[in-house]
Amino acid sequence: MTSEEEVAELFCCGICEDLMLAPITLVCCGRSFCKECLRLWIKTNAQQGGIPRCPGGCTKKVPFRLPQHSIALRKAMEQLVPERLANRIKEAAEEEIDETDCLGGFKAWGDIAASRDILYGSSIIVRQGSPGIVLGNCDDGCHLTVKFDEREDGSELCVNVVPEALMLPLPGGFRLHQKVVALYELLLNSDMKVPLGSVGHIIGSLGGDRVTVLFEPAKLLFGDHSIPEYPVSVNIREVAAQRLLVGGFSIAQRVQASMSLVVGNRVVVHAGCRGTVLAEFSDTRLTVVFETETEESSPSCFNVLPLEILPWCDLPAHLPAGSPVRALQHLMSPCAILVHAGTKGTILGGVDPALVFVAFENGPAVAAAVSTLEQLSDEKESEAEEKLLEKSETVAPDIGSSDLSSIDVEPPSDEETPNSATEAGNNGFACAVSTPINSARVTAVLSAD
Ligand SMILES: [Zn+2]
Ligand SMILES: [Zn+2]
Repeated sequence: MTSEEEVAELFCCGICEDLMLAPITLVCCGRSFCKECLRLWIKTNAQQGGIPRCPGGCTKKVPFRLPQHSIALRKAMEQLVPERLANRIKEAAEEEIDETDCLGGFKAWGDIAASRDILYGSSIIVRQGSPGIVLGNCDDGCHLTVKFDEREDGSELCVNVVPEALMLPLPGGFRLHQKVVALYELLLNSDMKVPLGSVGHIIGSLGGDRVTVLFEPAKLLFGDHSIPEYPVSVNIREVAAQRLLVGGFSIAQRVQASMSLVVGNRVVVHAGCRGTVLAEFSDTRLTVVFETETEESSPSCFNVLPLEILPWCDLPAHLPAGSPVRALQHLMSPCAILVHAGTKGTILGGVDPALVFVAFENGPAVAAAVSTLEQLSDEKESEAEEKLLEKSETVAPDIGSSDLSSIDVEPPSDEETPNSATEAGNNGFACAVSTPINSARVTAVLSAD
């Protein structure tokens, strides 16, 4: 039978050599210590100018943000050595010196951020907005010892700073000067608004759930006129960190449907229909509002896969939407649908300055380089048609050998959601960006022209 003494030894802290209080298990070697012992160990080592290493002797660095204490260890002690634990808690409460209040009203082990750039000599060692953790007051009585998450000089040592250089972290995990984007159209008053997708940077916080954002000048609308940049207090849920979404799209980006979107057996959004990215719906889908021309005129929101949309931009001046064009060379889609040279089509929209989205007759809608298209005018049409028909006979038979096999063909996915059930290839509208094939041969065709 094991004595209570022996059991108590199992729960002994390697620093204070007593029963562990709020036991924390370190990930470096799995040894456990009292939370307060670890904090004192970290603070003492850091204030002596070192990098705190594991008190268990494994020599690994100890994290400044300690893990949660172990509930299993605490419950085991409550079960196995209840009296010793009760005594230990009582002793600790009597000894306790309250050292959590620090200069400037900050709390020891609390999260903070740098309220300004922190300099050492003439170089910045901590950027304004950098997050960190307060270890406690410095012995000099006017500085606090802070461990910043990152230092500009790469050092892992703590920094002694005056309280004026610190601030409480901003709500929502935002950082000072972080670039953010408006997730909604923000109405400031009856005639001032910040449009959806406006970009700005965070300049401060008014407490609670609000941050102050300086939006870029042109984006803040006063009626129809833009006004100079102006700080706006927004709720943290009205903005998001600016970043690329799934598929490389961004919030408020103008897009177009890259294929007809089908729900059930009804086409709800036609290929080429313009829309705006509203949000990231999931890891794989984006919420897009499409400008569909329906009678009920309600906005059509769909959660689409990135391959179901293309970026949208203004068309080149000589190729307005609806203009008839003809493919000058064979075009290849990722779904292996071929658009033969000479096929006529209609411009739907622009993708980027060199790429337009075209609906080809009896075939797929394809994003094609402007240089692979010829604009059709009435008088030119019949003449060009004859020439291309002539040539296509010599070109067509050879396609589909080595050129095709080098292109990755992705089968249409069977994934379905209640929001958007679309199927690539279902009705011949399937496709993204085309790849012109066999350029040498195409050059030959063009030069023959
Ligand atoms: Zn201890
Ligand atoms: Zn260790």
